Amino acid sequence: MVTCPICKELLQELTSIHCVKRHGMSKAKVIEQFGKPKRLFLTFAAESTVTTPTISSRDYLDSQLLTDRLNSKTRKFHV
Ligand SMILES: [Zn+2]
Repeated sequence: MVTCPICKELLQELTSIHCVKRHGMSKAKVIEQFGKPKRLFLTFAAESTVTTPTISSRDYLDSQLLTDRLNSKTRKFHV
């Protein structure tokens, strides 16, 4: 994913179709005048070191404890 250097629209790729349709110039011209489109992956990697949408190790531990508790409860229930 990239963002268009002009309108910041999210695009799969910066295509010539987008450049011509939206901005009336060729892709090469867009890059020449506005710079290369930003790779979204790199932007995210640089900015989201603190707020990663992954499960933190603490949450993982909690869910493990919960699972253990549920398992033991179930076992008791069955006995
Ligand atoms: Zn654009």
